Amino acid sequence: MVRSISILGCTGSIGRQTAAVAEHTGIRVAALTANRKIDLLEQQARKLKPAFVAVYDEAAAKQFKIAVADTDIRVGSGMEGLIEAATLDDSDCVVTAVSGAVGLRPTLAAIDAKKRIALANKETLVCAGDLVMARAKEKGAEIVPVDSEHSAIFQCLMGRGAGELRRILLTGSGGPFRGKKREELEGVTPEQAVAHPNWSMGAKISVDSSTLMNKGLEFVEAMHLFGVRPEDITVVIHPQSVIHSMVELVDGTVIAQLGVPDMGLPIQLALTYPERLPSMFAHLDFWKLRDLSFAEPDLVNFPCLRLAMDCARRGGTAPCAMSAANEVAVHKFLRRELGYNRIYDAAAGAVEAVGVTAADDLDTILAADEAARAFVREKF
Ligand code: MG
Repeated sequence: MVRSISILGCTGSIGRQTAAVAEHTGIRVAALTANRKIDLLEQQARKLKPAFVAVYDEAAAKQFKIAVADTDIRVGSGMEGLIEAATLDDSDCVVTAVSGAVGLRPTLAAIDAKKRIALANKETLVCAGDLVMARAKEKGAEIVPVDSEHSAIFQCLMGRGAGELRRILLTGSGGPFRGKKREELEGVTPEQAVAHPNWSMGAKISVDSSTLMNKGLEFVEAMHLFGVRPEDITVVIHPQSVIHSMVELVDGTVIAQLGVPDMGLPIQLALTYPERLPSMFAHLDFWKLRDLSFAEPDLVNFPCLRLAMDCARRGGTAPCAMSAANEVAVHKFLRRELGYNRIYDAAAGAVEAVGVTAADDLDTILAADEAARAFVREKF
């Protein structure tokens, strides 16, 4: 297991849970980064005592530096600060819990520095999966997934040979609007969209879970992480979120990973792997599980999943453009500037508007990301 970590994006939902797991397991926090929530960041920094803290927003970084002037904490800012946190000598593992494409450069820098990546930033693999996985292989950096589904698949594949896997069964709850028709979702409010039945998550990912875009992003992520083709992944709707995903082996055996729906579990495993430690989380109570049910995803009324699967097949910059456009559209929806069903229109429109090219280098990827964002800002 790792001795010390850098948490990129420590004030978000995953970041806060990672800090709690680190405290519970006695793993030292070497560095923290945040965008601009400096009040919470200051509380975390005083408690966890990292040697280095980076604040992405320059103005907030200046304020933060004054706030912690009485401590020994070194303060950095901007992309340079994030990269320093990701490559700190004193840290063995980088938890990438920032949201969006801002996580790309620090993750690549951490790979170059041969750190373990506890990957919680979906965009990293959705946008730059080929690049990141090739670089990790070349440098010998470990990537351990934090997303519950990918952690489950990772656990189901532990100790298996390359030829044993037949397909991945990627499970998803179906979100709060499962069973609804697209017309019925026209007037959905941000409050309704973020109220997820099983998981407690940040606002952006909660909206993505409700549109099934989150499952689509996970589909792309799984392809890269496990080196499989789109046709090797089947999405299975499992409303109880007790099974966190499964693998089917060539002989027909299915292996599932089960647990309570708490992100703390995959976070802890990403840090302690290959060891396991007792956790502070609830255990599964089989007498309270009434039933486990399964259904096919509804790709007609939840077209974001269909779009993501199409983009996965097209490859290149398609998933990146889709994800970037979706991110801008979701934030517009959360600010009540865009209707719920327009999120799909924005993501699908951006893929066509930006066009699809090979995604072999970071500049091409970041350009596609920016073009898709600009498209949604201007047209929606
Ligand atoms: Mg997930």
